[in-house]
Amino acid sequence: MQQNSSFSDSSKLQDLFETGTRKDFVAEVRQAMRQILAKLQVEDHYEQVISEIKREPGYRELNNTWEKLESAVRRQKWQELMERLVQLAYATRPYCLRCGECCRQGSPSLHQEDLELLDYDLISIRQIYTLRQGEPVKFNIEGRLGFLPGELVKIKEDPESRNCIFLVRENNNCAIYHHRPLQCRIQACWNPEELEKLYHQKKLTRRHLLREDHPLLELLEAHNERCSFEKLDSAFKKFHETDDEKAIDQVLDILRQDMVFRDFVKTKLDRDEEELDFLLGRPLMELVRAYGVRVEKDENNVYHLVSEQ
Ligand code: SF4
Repeated sequence: MQQNSSFSDSSKLQDLFETGTRKDFVAEVRQAMRQILAKLQVEDHYEQVISEIKREPGYRELNNTWEKLESAVRRQKWQELMERLVQLAYATRPYCLRCGECCRQGSPSLHQEDLELLDYDLISIRQIYTLRQGEPVKFNIEGRLGFLPGELVKIKEDPESRNCIFLVRENNNCAIYHHRPLQCRIQACWNPEELEKLYHQKKLTRRHLLREDHPLLELLEAHNERCSFEKLDSAFKKFHETDDEKAIDQVLDILRQDMVFRDFVKTKLDRDEEELDFLLGRPLMELVRAYGVRVEKDENNVYHLVSEQ
């Protein structure tokens, strides 16, 4: 379960920060605590956690000074208190409930320790995809948007829900539980530190999986070079800065080349459609949405970029 401190109703909290009294503050802490404990299924630890939070310096300071504080300071200190509250609540349940919540937040990235899962065909390359270097992504741990500094390979996700494809919806079980990847084995919602350490370790890439001298490597290099995110990003930047239509032609040309590579791998090299997202990454046609545009084809089969705003 992702640690989340925004459990309370946001308009109620806004009122608390604007005009709430000390008594309202105390009532709201109790309410937030009940919600957090219920979400972690440890409601019976209410008395324990309330006495711990009352001993926290952050709580005591707020309790003594609430009515003298500015709204922005109240908000900031409330946020800090809620984070501490979530930590205390998790500390009452240091084990996995197998609730499936972390498997619904997205799929794991693979590490070198996971190589044998693919070697023994416990996970197939049809079930994974590549995020190429420079791809625009959201960094889960840091919660920010940015460009991926290096390539990584992930288990595929359900396109609608973003659930990991191995999550069995009916019972929240993992279909490969006994052979789940390293990240899933390390992930512990009550103790995110181990996962954060893993996050900085080297990830598995296509080179590890295809191995040296694989005939496809040269083609993948050519695709990386001609359809790089660096080129795509610079064409979009050029367009935004200069409004130059030629920059749009450049974007469309990169997308076209990506399609040609995909078609070649599928038809000439006879690779399965489901392997393409691993071999070449996800189609650029879909990924340009990160730039606020989508691609449409007109009646003459000519592609255009259309703003999504
Ligand atoms: S592989 Fe299994 S444990 Fe890991 S995210 Fe997917 S469903 Fe969850």
